[in-house]
Parts: sequence; structure tokens; C-alpha cells
Amino acid sequence: MTKVLNTADSFTDDAVDGLVSIYPHYLEKTYGGVVSSRSTRPGKVAVVIGGGSGHYPAFAGWVGPGLADGAVVGNIFASPSTQQIYAVAKAVDDGAGVFMSYGNYAGDVLNFNLAEEQLGEEDIRAVSVPVTDDVSSAKLEERAKRRGVAGDLMVFKIAGAAAERGDDLDGVIAAAKKVNDATYSFGVAFAGCTLPGAEQPLFTVPEGQMGVGLGVHGEPGVAEVPLEPAADLAKRLVDRLLEERPEGSSGRVAALLNGLGGTKYEELFVLWNDVRKLLEGAGLTIVAPEVGELITSLDMAGVSLTLTWLDDELEELWLAPADTPAFRRGAAPEVRTVHRGISEAAQQEFGEASSDSRELAGELLATLEVVATLLHDKESELGDLDAIAGDGDHGRGMTKGCDAALAAARAAVDGGAGLSSTLSAAGVAWADKAGGTSGALWGNGLRQAATALDDESRPGAEQGVAAVQAALDLVTTFGKAQRHDKTLLDALIPFGESLQQSVGEGRSFAEAWSSAAEVATTEAQATADLAPKIGRARVLSDRSQGHPDPGAISLAMIVTAVGERLG
Ligand code: ADP
Ligand code: MG
Repeated sequence: MTKVLNTADSFTDDAVDGLVSIYPHYLEKTYGGVVSSRSTRPGKVAVVIGGGSGHYPAFAGWVGPGLADGAVVGNIFASPSTQQIYAVAKAVDDGAGVFMSYGNYAGDVLNFNLAEEQLGEEDIRAVSVPVTDDVSSAKLEERAKRRGVAGDLMVFKIAGAAAERGDDLDGVIAAAKKVNDATYSFGVAFAGCTLPGAEQPLFTVPEGQMGVGLGVHGEPGVAEVPLEPAADLAKRLVDRLLEERPEGSSGRVAALLNGLGGTKYEELFVLWNDVRKLLEGAGLTIVAPEVGELITSLDMAGVSLTLTWLDDELEELWLAPADTPAFRRGAAPEVRTVHRGISEAAQQEFGEASSDSRELAGELLATLEVVATLLHDKESELGDLDAIAGDGDHGRGMTKGCDAALAAARAAVDGGAGLSSTLSAAGVAWADKAGGTSGALWGNGLRQAATALDDESRPGAEQGVAAVQAALDLVTTFGKAQRHDKTLLDALIPFGESLQQSVGEGRSFAEAWSSAAEVATTEAQATADLAPKIGRARVLSDRSQGHPDPGAISLAMIVTAVGERLG
């Protein structure tokens, strides 16, 4: 349990402030996370790492020469927003492109991919490689589905060293893919962890037992077995990893024995002693092993073992110097302090807008007010629906996102922005503040819809249809769900189809919208019969039977309310 905090909401931010004040010669706070306060070689590929917080020293403790140039810091166990990732990448880009890496989780994949796209729009080439080292999360044949756990460090370190030695972006990507393919982790949990401010742990391990195959977000192990002596535990970990020893491997391995936050260093040393003997007994040569707390999971007790099968190149990069608050190796290069950080999300600049378009922006603002009121009314209803098979945060996420969108739209309208710019600003703010999958999809979807509109004309019905289609395309491209997967798409796709059809038949936009909203409502209700195939609810699929999808329901509510205003 977290005993030292001011409020749960300010916990992450307070911790980052404290961290940065200890290491001003390494770190500078920036909107979205931290960046290196040290000068870098001109023209170096920038390396951005990140994910949720609660894992220190991952990720903010690994910023410095030879490793990362910036770390994006999300809330506890939650993906950072697209906007945070974009901002950190932009702060450290030096014109040679940005390499990004993170543990493979749906929310992080979604937001990092969206950030790449946004950076690309500004001709900043950004490419990310997710880490997939956790052997217990999917079979070897489904390697790309594996979660990222302590192997993050191996991938980040080696990619960081490749950038430092002068590789171009393609070279860094190749090194990262190679090390990720060569990296395998397996762990056990002795006790669960508790979110700051929460009374109950996310999971518990029965007395005398341990969870085998743990995750780093308070996911319990996949099986429970009795506690065992260190030598047996070492054998369990080593045997499982050796099962996946790649063919033709050199026999030289980098090893990392990681403590999850609530396991003592002395225990790790005891375990390491047995792990070392077993690895050597298998004829392996261990290269520069690391034993300690590298990727934690708040106060979770547990350990994991990571092996990286080295070739000459990977070994050279693993051994290359690095100098960061929490990971140091070799001689520190000469550096001076620089400033890259910014304190706020980049302010959007609004171009000239016609008076027609400004009037419509005002209408949009009024509509957002209605939607915000609606969402506040329905917050607990949507939360309860999400709690059935998800994590119960859908109502909270939607209200937070919409409130932020409303504030941004108000500022845009006050600044004289037109319709497209106002909608875009609202979308960016929604994605940044909502958290959760739906927040990223809603916010970025609205931002994308704005690209089909402009700040000059009064859009016709076709443009309205195109705006909805643009949002739909973004949600399907980045969310990677299909119809009948039991997501908000099950309301959005039929909504878009109906809207397009009615407009095609010559009905007014307002009429077409309202009848499409009716279709969306029916289809959202009908998701009760579906089994979830994607998202958090997939794991508890049975519980979801008979209940509609929360994201589809909130979407239907919103388009209905908008229809009432249009009409
Ligand atoms: P989280 O799942 O991150 O907790 P929310 O609870 O706010 O986020 O939203 C859950 C809703 O998000 C689901 O009910 C579903 O409609 C939608 N959703 C989840 N994953 C996807 C996806 N990949 N594509 C489209 N919609 C999705
Ligand atoms: Mg949720």
C-alpha cells in the first residue's frame, strides 16, 4: 500500500517533480514527461521511451547519454496520451528522426502509433518498436502478442547505444528489432500491489503460494504453485527460458534478474547465485548481468529473469557506456546542460476564420456543453456498465475527456477560431486528458474529423458525412477492431452508413443525423448479445454476455444528444 502521498491524482506529478529536482544534471521536466538536460551529438537519432508510471526506474530513470533522450510518463499503470508522446518526441527531435520504444500493451500501442502519425504530419519521422519479451503472455508462435516486461531495459539500452554510436533511424530500428527478438523474460509474484490511494491490492497471492508468469501492471500470475527454495525457483525460471533458446545462439547471454518493488536485494542476490550456477552449468557465458530493481510494479513482491541472446553487435551495444540516474555503465561522456523542456502542451495556433465559420464554432461549443452535461449525468451508469467486464472507468474517462474538450473549444472560440480549428483543439484536449482506450479513440477521432472541415465555409451535408467517415477511419485504423468485436464501432459503423445513405437520398443533414442516431442506439443495445473480442473486456468475456458495450452505449447517447441540437 502507498503510505506517502498527497493525493492519488497528484501522485505521479509530485514524484516526477521530486525526481527531476534530485537529478537536474540529467533530467528536465517537460510537458508529457522528462527529457535529457544534457547536450547530445548533433544529428543523433532521438530515443524516446515510455509507458505508465509506477515502474521506476522505468522509464524516467533511464534518460541520459547512451540510453534515452526523453521518457513519456503516463499515469500509474496507464498509457501516456498521444499528446504527451508527441510533445516529448518533438522536444528531443534533432532532425534525424525519433526512435520510440515501450512495452507491448494495447493502450500504449494505440497512443504511440497515433503520435507517430502526428509527428509524420510535421515531417518528423518517428518509428516505434514495442517490446515483447514476456514468455508467459502468449506462445512463441504469437510472439507479437507478448507483453513487454523487464526486457524493456535490454531493448532500450541497445537501441540507445545504436543511436549514440551514430546509426541512422533505420539502423536503430534494426538493432531494436534484433534485440527484442533475442530477449525473453519469465517471472513469479509473491504479493500483489496497491494503487496509490486505493485500500485494496489489485490482486492477492494466497499465503504460502506464488503466482507464476506475472505481469507488471498488477496482473496476477497465470498459475499458482507453492513457494519453493531459491534453488528450485532459479531452476524454474532458467528452465523456462532455456526452452526458447534460439537456434544457432552463440551461448553468450546478457542477464537481468529484476525485483518487482517489494522483494529485498538480498533475496535477489540469493536467487542470482543459483541462477548464475544454472546458466553456467548449461554452458552459457553471462555478459554484464544486472541484478536489482529495474522495472517495478509499485509495491508488488516478485522477481523476473530476463535473458538476451547476444551476437557480437548486440554484445558491443549492451556493453557501451551509458549515464542515466538509474543505469550507468563505463565512462560518462563530457556533456553540458541544455534546455529542451516545455511546461505546457503546445498551444495550437488558429489561422484566419470567416465569420460564418466562427459562428459554427460557437454552435459546436454549445453542443459540447450539452454533451458534457449529458456525460456527467450518465457518468456512474457508464462506469457501472464498464465494471461488468472492464475496469469501471468509462464514465470517468468520457467526462474527463469531454470537459477538457469543452475548455479547449471555449479557448479556441474566444481566440476567434473557426469550426475546423475548434473541433481539432477539442479533440486534442479530449485525447490528452481522458485516459483509457475510448479517450484516445474519441479525441483523435474528433481531431481527424476536423480535417474534413475548414475555417471558411459552411460545410454541406457531404462534408459532414466525410467528417464522420474520417473519424471512423481513424478509429478502425488505430483501434484495429472490427464490427461485432463488441466495441464502440458497433454503433459508429452503422451510424456512419445510415448517415451517408440518408444524405445520399437527399434528406437534410439534421434529419439524416437523427435517424442515424436511432440506428446507433439500436445497434448499441444489440451489442449485449455479442462476446468481446478486443479490449479489456475480452479477458472476462463471459461476464459481458447480456450487457451492452459501454463505449457503444456512450457513443449512441452522444450522437442522439447532438441530433437533438442539430434538429
Ligand atoms: P479502457 O478500456 O482503456 O478502460 P474505457 O473504459 O474508457 O477504456 O472504454 C472502453 C470502451 O472502449 C469499450 O467499451 C469499447 O467500446 C471501446 N474500445 C476498446 N478497445 C477498442 C478498440 N480497439 N477499438 C474501438 N473501440 C474500443
Ligand atoms: Mg475502462
